[in-house]
Amino acid sequence: MEKREKLYEGKAKIVYATDEPDKVVIYFKDDTTAFDGVKKEEIGGKGVINNAISSLIFELLNKRGIPTHYIKKLSAREMLAKRVEIIPVEVVVRNFASGSFTRRYGIPEGTKLEKPLVETFWKNDELHDPLVCAEHIELLKLADLRDVEEMKKIALQVNEILKAFFAAKNILLVDFKLEFGKTPDGKLVLADEISPDSCRLWDAETKKKLDKDVFRHDLGDLREVYNELLKRLQEEG
Ligand code: UDP
Repeated sequence: MEKREKLYEGKAKIVYATDEPDKVVIYFKDDTTAFDGVKKEEIGGKGVINNAISSLIFELLNKRGIPTHYIKKLSAREMLAKRVEIIPVEVVVRNFASGSFTRRYGIPEGTKLEKPLVETFWKNDELHDPLVCAEHIELLKLADLRDVEEMKKIALQVNEILKAFFAAKNILLVDFKLEFGKTPDGKLVLADEISPDSCRLWDAETKKKLDKDVFRHDLGDLREVYNELLKRLQEEG
């Protein structure tokens, strides 16, 4: 397998073509951004940690039968994935109130939600990723509504798998964001990354934040926190 031209560069990752038309290499950068790129910093080694965490989580999800783009980890900063066209709808699952949910609905951070909440956002930087419901998605022609239903169903399954996985490490899965794509043969698969950049994770006892909120709100050394998280996830049991 040979790496070819750059297909796309985002805020935290670069996607390269390969000599196989249906496979891409995803390269994890150290760039860290928040608030739509207004706060930006390079945090040495972050890409290595996020590739390791994402790979570990995608391996678990593949094993549990969730359709994902992930094929294998190639190197410290690279994973091999199925080439997909990303659907411009981000799916967020929440177990506890935090972030935009607390701001939007006035519910205090850390409030346990009676059941997991699934929200959909339009992936659109210029418009700051607005919250959209099925009617908006249909009207704006962002995605097929049957695909959206499937994405929400898969997101709830992923939530159950990851909640249990993190609970075994004494970590609370507060919320997370998923992105989906379509393979050239039209299959819907989970794509992008699943890392502390895209999840909120708290120590179950101390409620210490083990995710990008540490960077967003200057709560400490992000690299140290991400390293601690990776170590806990790699521990047996
Ligand atoms: N999230 C993300 N990318 C985005 C927006 C949100 O990965 O563009 C993640 C975020 O890290 C959190 C969850 O999705 O785990 C819910 O984010 P929220 O809507 O609360 O937005 P925020 O507070 O980050 O503005």
